[in-house]
Amino acid sequence: MPIDTEALARKYRAATIDVPNKRLLVTNFRGTEQEKDLTEPANCDGFGRIRHFCKATSSGWPSNPLPIEPACRALRLGPQDEIRAQVFQNAACNWRCWYCFVPFNLLSADQAHSAWLTPSELFQLFLAQPNRPLVLDLSGGQPELTPEWVYWMIEEIENNGLGGQIYLEIQTFTPVLERLDSIRLETFDNQRRAVEAWQRELDRRFPASVRDLPITQIPMGRLAHKRDA
Ligand code: SF4
Repeated sequence: MPIDTEALARKYRAATIDVPNKRLLVTNFRGTEQEKDLTEPANCDGFGRIRHFCKATSSGWPSNPLPIEPACRALRLGPQDEIRAQVFQNAACNWRCWYCFVPFNLLSADQAHSAWLTPSELFQLFLAQPNRPLVLDLSGGQPELTPEWVYWMIEEIENNGLGGQIYLEIQTFTPVLERLDSIRLETFDNQRRAVEAWQRELDRRFPASVRDLPITQIPMGRLAHKRDA
């Protein structure tokens, strides 16, 4: 059954942003499955994590210059092979990619692992960090559900006199079909393998009764799946 991502986007946007009061539902990593994957302990009172972007990738894959090269250009740094970023995650996503490293309950506006913060509160947590990264990464979840977040954080950077000193990185999502590059057979083949692996992973994780649920009827909070059994 195709995912009705538009309906899910409306539902999750309503559950994760409070525009009149300028608040956002932000994931707190403490006590989550994702916390076990972090290479550094969660920071910013549990609402932040450090990500190490590296140009080098796995053997046989091309190197990845993003976001290192544009960040170094914008910040007038010399060439770097690795850069640290301060990551915050909004607490919902209207997709369920097979390769996602975020536990699905952290994508469903689960208030057990998130809290409402103003952009100012979030930015002050960032400013208080020792050895603060120069890259601020708004991730998800799905930042595209809450585009106001981007403008609010730009405001915070400017209001704190840090314009030009922090590189703001936004993690956005491009659906698999839009990533297909018909000119490069190799790309097409990789995408085909990705879609097949996605289907296998969904089959492995979820019983048929859950796979057949209309996505908009999946409750907020943790979705029971095979791994939890
Ligand atoms: S769009 Fe990103 S956060 Fe959402 S399911 Fe896919 S990989 Fe995970």
